[in-house]
Amino acid sequence: MDKLIFKISHLLESPTGNSEIYSFDVPLDLEFVEKKGNVTGKIEIMRIDEGLNVVAKDVELNLKTNCAKCLKAFSQKIKITSAERQFELNPPEKAEDENDVYLINKKNLTIDVTEMLRQEIILHFPVISVCSSGCKGLCPYCGKNKNLAKCTCSEPIEADFEGNKPLKALKEFFNKK
Ligand SMILES: [Zn+2]
Ligand SMILES: [Zn+2]
Repeated sequence: MDKLIFKISHLLESPTGNSEIYSFDVPLDLEFVEKKGNVTGKIEIMRIDEGLNVVAKDVELNLKTNCAKCLKAFSQKIKITSAERQFELNPPEKAEDENDVYLINKKNLTIDVTEMLRQEIILHFPVISVCSSGCKGLCPYCGKNKNLAKCTCSEPIEADFEGNKPLKALKEFFNKK
């Protein structure tokens, strides 16, 4: 399967409870992020009274991102264990949220799970990406990556503004005027 569109004509004709599983490995378009490789996973489609119940399982993709602490570029894996949606045969008369309604394409007898997966990926998106839990980040004084080498900057004893030399110098400058 190289697209997130699945043929469901036979499933629609089968009794409720019948299901099928497909694997996919597709280059899903995500305009908000740089991706590395395809999105992979499984889709289980089950016939229910209202249409189809769709479960995406073990969805994985690798993102290209930069560490929030040391700025190093690295590849981060997003994993979605399980996500479920219903695809309806007919649009509900009153939808709470139009974006949450998924419809079966009755003309082509297909379902398109692209939007479903896109939403799930956004939900599972890391708020802050860090290359490793032990990342030491950059030295705030000299800017060196502390994962690679120790720098000679001493940690400030006081972090208040008085002890901050650039500000102190600025203050003295203005006091002279
Ligand atoms: Zn890092
Ligand atoms: Zn330093």
